[in-house]
Amino acid sequence: MNRLSIRPTLFFCFVLTALVSWGAPLKVLIIDGQNNHDWEATTPELKRILEETGRFQADVATTPPAGGDMSAFQPEFGLYDVVVSNYNGESWSAATNAAFEEYVRQGGGFVAYHAADNAFPGWKEYNEMIAIGGWGGRTEAHGASIHFEDNRVQYDYSPGKAGSHGRRHAFLIVTRDPKHPIMSKLPNAWMHASDELYDSLKGPARDLDLLATAYSDPKAPGTGRNEPILLAIRYGKGRVFHTTLGHDVAAMRCVGFITTLQRGAEWAATGRVKQKVPKDFPTMTRVSTRE
Ligand code: ZN
Repeated sequence: MNRLSIRPTLFFCFVLTALVSWGAPLKVLIIDGQNNHDWEATTPELKRILEETGRFQADVATTPPAGGDMSAFQPEFGLYDVVVSNYNGESWSAATNAAFEEYVRQGGGFVAYHAADNAFPGWKEYNEMIAIGGWGGRTEAHGASIHFEDNRVQYDYSPGKAGSHGRRHAFLIVTRDPKHPIMSKLPNAWMHASDELYDSLKGPARDLDLLATAYSDPKAPGTGRNEPILLAIRYGKGRVFHTTLGHDVAAMRCVGFITTLQRGAEWAATGRVKQKVPKDFPTMTRVSTRE
């Protein structure tokens, strides 16, 4: 066999192995189109991260640009096992909001990725789904901020703006719910590559499992609290995975980001996680990234 024919053969074997071990791929819809982040760079990365597992097949739905006719944006959510939002922009139509609420309430999966938790401050049901959010004029009127202390989730209703982050840096992420399918078999603590560490997010904060936190160092500057980083939320019959990580492509190359996104999307879609933890997962002292 010459060298040129090895690659397609390996690829075929990979696809075959994936089909045999996973069955038909889970269908993902990634939503983008408006964001104060570089969605045109991060959406292909989200798609690649999910599809490289062999567990998912991802489509992308892009909204009109700011000021466009949003009534044209009517994805068929029901065709998908999980919707991943990379969207932080203008309101969707009332009909699309209602369709999305119905989709999640009836058992659809949803993944809120990074600045998706900045979106839609005035959409009550969306705030229930993500549990906590930031910016966009959010304050204590939107609900509590949460942090982890004395072995449990603490709720803080004190007044102030919701959403902040210090200077970008690498930080330690600590598991707070090791029995949850997304977290089981991951190390208890691991170093995340340089990224924004969101703090002071506020919202209804109901029906949630706080999966992982990171210490927000006052020197960054941050809050001096163990801030929520990964959350699992129940909304009706639906499951929501909320990751605050992944500001840009460099942050998304962290194997910790990649693995938790893959596991979170699988859990949101099915309620279970079959994927194994990769050997290059970061440790307590060592960041691990992929090209
Ligand atoms: Zn960001």
